[in-house]
Amino acid sequence: MLHKEDSYRHKGLRRKLVETLIKKGIKDQKVLEAIGKLPRHFFLDSALDYQAYEDKALPIKVGQTISQPYTVAYMTELLKIKKQDKVLELGTGSGYQAAILSLCGANVYTVERQETLYHEARNLLLKMNYNNIKFFFRDGSKGLPEFAPFDKIIVTAACSEIPEVLLKQLNVGGIIIIPVGESSQQMITIERISQDEFVKKLHGDFNFVPFLPGTEGKK
Ligand code: SAH
Repeated sequence: MLHKEDSYRHKGLRRKLVETLIKKGIKDQKVLEAIGKLPRHFFLDSALDYQAYEDKALPIKVGQTISQPYTVAYMTELLKIKKQDKVLELGTGSGYQAAILSLCGANVYTVERQETLYHEARNLLLKMNYNNIKFFFRDGSKGLPEFAPFDKIIVTAACSEIPEVLLKQLNVGGIIIIPVGESSQQMITIERISQDEFVKKLHGDFNFVPFLPGTEGKK
């Protein structure tokens, strides 16, 4: 049993959120449908039940954040997810982005360095019957070499530079999306167009929590 209900009020607020995202320029129908379907308040503390449908980032546990819905939608759109794409996410956080990728048809491998978040996201998404998401508790800075290559890679925490090791884990034709920078981050996509050719594009400024080394366990 899920611990929360998805009421008419939540559904109504979610429809408005989708309208907001369309106004802000999101066009990919798959992404809009996924956001329209997924109860974002399930991923948040009950105190944030109705704020869940405002287009803003919100706090989750251990000082981390669930990304702004626009950011989730924009990053997912830029990844051009196709059915059965094998997608690596670094930074599971609440699990919301992983669920959106799964709803778009991807097989998701998601990695989190905070043990509490890893357990909570995993428990929630298993209860919600997301069977095509695999969860890993570890430092994601080396990617997931034993499951590489991936069709898409999404990094949902701020990196100071593009980790070369991740580019090597992309299939030819694959895309990585990653926010790069210190105080604010430039959203960057890199497409691997051949074994050793990569095409980089910039997509504007965003703000993410930092990508950190090592793991942190329950205190
Ligand atoms: N995608 C998330 C947003 C999470 S915020 C969501 O939909 O809710 C970024 C997350 O990246 C945090 O949970 C943080 O703990 C995690 N993170 C930071 N550095 C990491 C690393 N080296 N490996 C794995 N996860 C990391």
